Amino acid sequence: MQAPQQDIPSPESPAEALPEDFPSRTTFWRGAARMALTAGSGAALGAIVHHPAFGAALALSAHGLAQLRQLVRLRAWLHRPKRHPLPDSAGLWGEAFDLLLEMQRKNRKRKRKLSLMLAEFQASTAALPDGAVVLGERGEISWFNAAAQKLLGLRSPQDLGIRIPNLIRHPSFTDFFEQGDFERETEAPSPANRNRLLSLRIIPYGNEQKLLIVRDVSERRQLEAARRDFVANASHELRTPLTVLRGYLDLMEMDAQGSGPLNAWRTPVAEMRAQALRMEALVNDMLKLARLESDRTRNDERLQVPALIRRAIEEAKAVSKAQHRFEARIDDNLLLKGGENELHSIIINLLTNAVRYTPAGGVIRVSWERSVEGARFAVADTGIGIAQEDIPRLTERFYRVDVGRSRASGGTGLGLSIVKHALEGFDAELSIESELGVGSTFRCSFPHHRVEQLVNKAEPALK
Ligand code: ADP
Repeated sequence: MQAPQQDIPSPESPAEALPEDFPSRTTFWRGAARMALTAGSGAALGAIVHHPAFGAALALSAHGLAQLRQLVRLRAWLHRPKRHPLPDSAGLWGEAFDLLLEMQRKNRKRKRKLSLMLAEFQASTAALPDGAVVLGERGEISWFNAAAQKLLGLRSPQDLGIRIPNLIRHPSFTDFFEQGDFERETEAPSPANRNRLLSLRIIPYGNEQKLLIVRDVSERRQLEAARRDFVANASHELRTPLTVLRGYLDLMEMDAQGSGPLNAWRTPVAEMRAQALRMEALVNDMLKLARLESDRTRNDERLQVPALIRRAIEEAKAVSKAQHRFEARIDDNLLLKGGENELHSIIINLLTNAVRYTPAGGVIRVSWERSVEGARFAVADTGIGIAQEDIPRLTERFYRVDVGRSRASGGTGLGLSIVKHALEGFDAELSIESELGVGSTFRCSFPHHRVEQLVNKAEPALK
């Protein structure tokens, strides 16, 4: 396995180990001169017995044998350095042996440093509360820490070398691993304990290696579920008493309009009724949001989007009370797959917001058409607009730019949160563009796999 890339000594090559003042050409000529000297000495000695050529040949052969001996020693050293140490030699061989020994010493130092770094890295990762698993090129396990052992039920050494998808056999992890989109993370039950939910994240690094980070998120998910259930139950429980209160307040308001005893209470009764209506809207939105959050089942109904949009525009017109002009550009052949309630929530929330935040006389443009990503539903208005710094926070629960204005126009502060969550059920995304005093555009982008395109009856179908 690779240690983190910090200050790792690079391997030495013989060329790197050579001192700079080691010109190979000079060395060659030095060696050649030595050979010539040997041959000359041999020839001189041979001349004494009148055979200079024989003397030179004999001297050169002795020189060759000496070279061969050094070569054999070098081979023996390379094979078993501890058993056959390099001899002290003079000349070229001596220099070469010194360089080799120097290189060996540096490599040993580098190896020691690397092992130390590796040990430090393993010790620090071992102490992590999150599981860490180092994976090789094909996803095979090469190392893991104690937390990973516990969370994933890994065993050492049996599981080393086994591909991780063979051990975490949940479809969400298998798909995640095979798709290779490691920007996101995934969740799967622990193979060691099905009751524990794990969050799994993969960080690619080094040479095709990956680090799998595993975290136990069971408690966090349980808390979230408890919070959602509480909100859903509380909203549900509040609904009945509120309906009763509103029923009486409706009757009292009718009574207060006449000349009966409640006439003096006309204003307070009207205010109480308005507040009861507001509470009802709030409780309904809270319930809707809690349901959207907890219901993870994917709905695949075929939705007649054009009809749904037209119906929602009529509802928005009723809210507008003819104070706004509506324009619509709707592709009648474009349908969606998903949940009808969710789609209605998206459309009606965006439309009523456009009405509520656009002064009388403004224009509201609705469009439903094809786009590069699949299909796009957009609502654009010529209203008050939103400051750039507020845009990223609009989908937070109860986030309102102007609380007074939102309340006065019947807002709950949950509309855009509902839109965002409902869009998740369509794998769709919301984007917002706005300019203060000019208007806002809310776009919902639906991906191809959620879109259905009918063959246009007006145009011949392309084969
Ligand atoms: P609310 O019920 O308050 O409208 P939403 O979640 O629907 O809650 O919207 C959050 C806030 O975003 C609103 O309070 C308002 O300030 C701003 N907003 C939403 N839609 C528009 C719009 N079309 N034009 C201007 N501001 C908007």
